[in-house]
Amino acid sequence: MDGQYTIATLGSHSALQILKGARDEGFGTLAIASRETERLYRSFKFVDEVMTLDRYQDFPKIVADLQRRKAIIVPHGSFVAYLSLEEQKQMTVPYFGNKAVLDWEASRELQREWLTRAGLQLPRQFRSGAEIDRPVIVKLYGAAGGKGYMFIRDAADFETRAAKLQEAYTIQEYIIGVPLYIHYFYSPLDDTLEIMSMDRRYETNVDSLGRIPAAAQEGMDVSPSYVVVGNSPVSLRESMLVEALRMGEDVVRVSKEICPPKGLFGAFCIETIITPDIQFYVMEISARIVAGTNLFIDGSPYSYLNYSESMSTGRRIAREIKNALLTNNLGRVLDDSSVL
Ligand code: ATP
Repeated sequence: MDGQYTIATLGSHSALQILKGARDEGFGTLAIASRETERLYRSFKFVDEVMTLDRYQDFPKIVADLQRRKAIIVPHGSFVAYLSLEEQKQMTVPYFGNKAVLDWEASRELQREWLTRAGLQLPRQFRSGAEIDRPVIVKLYGAAGGKGYMFIRDAADFETRAAKLQEAYTIQEYIIGVPLYIHYFYSPLDDTLEIMSMDRRYETNVDSLGRIPAAAQEGMDVSPSYVVVGNSPVSLRESMLVEALRMGEDVVRVSKEICPPKGLFGAFCIETIITPDIQFYVMEISARIVAGTNLFIDGSPYSYLNYSESMSTGRRIAREIKNALLTNNLGRVLDDSSVL
């Protein structure tokens, strides 16, 4: 079914998962690739067509082509990396998701307001080095995957190592706990929130420091860095699922107030750190499919509970679009800029 619609995405990030899911749900599939990546996407049988761009920034030039093919764009993390917010907003090709949420996600201040209003607990922010009264993490703006983040012990350490930084940064209370990334899917069609899967990242070298006794570290010139090298699956203690679900529901509820009427829908991820007293601190929200879901192309323990079949987040997105088509509700799962 739905042979006439094609699901399209940029060839990177979670494109394989998205396109495999689209094929499994009966859609045509299209990868928009670069010269370097086109061969990869052609090598997978579930990719019907590959369009190649010299630069991802040329994306707006193929919009008319996409519209002719009845393409529906499914965005992922590389859209924010390769296309500006303005470029994304100006696209009129049917787009799964609500672009109004992008502004709330892109600004750290707006994001904080959104998450706080949803009753989520956030690490304390410090406006200046002088305010620092506990260990903090200094986060450079625009750093991808934790690159360049600094663990700072106290105000004096800040003066020595961070005060002269040229780039913009935020200073955040350092939360000691387990980083847990929770992947959700909210269906506006049946007003239900599902926990799709969860992962934790493996970061170098902060996750390997525990392998060296603290006494041996003394005197070694080693400071933690947070560069992501991989993700591993996690199943959460069942008693903690209640709070995981509550956080997702409240984030969706508040999103309908700040970006009315549709709010946030589809895939999203709340990045948390869980402390020994079982408090979830929230570092960030990603308002789309995240790369950690690639661990679960064949489904996760949680998605199996709901579907009894392989249900990746990519496939869940295609299922939602299919359900919308079947009930004549496509507009409900697309951004309002979409010209059908
Ligand atoms: P991405 O955009 O890929 O999600 P990022 O650059 O936004 O990454 P964060 O997810 O904010 O980075 O943080 C990267 C890592 O830094 C986290 O996985 C975590 O290990 C650590 N980290 C971030 N904030 C804190 C905090 N407040 N306390 C302790 N550790 C933190």
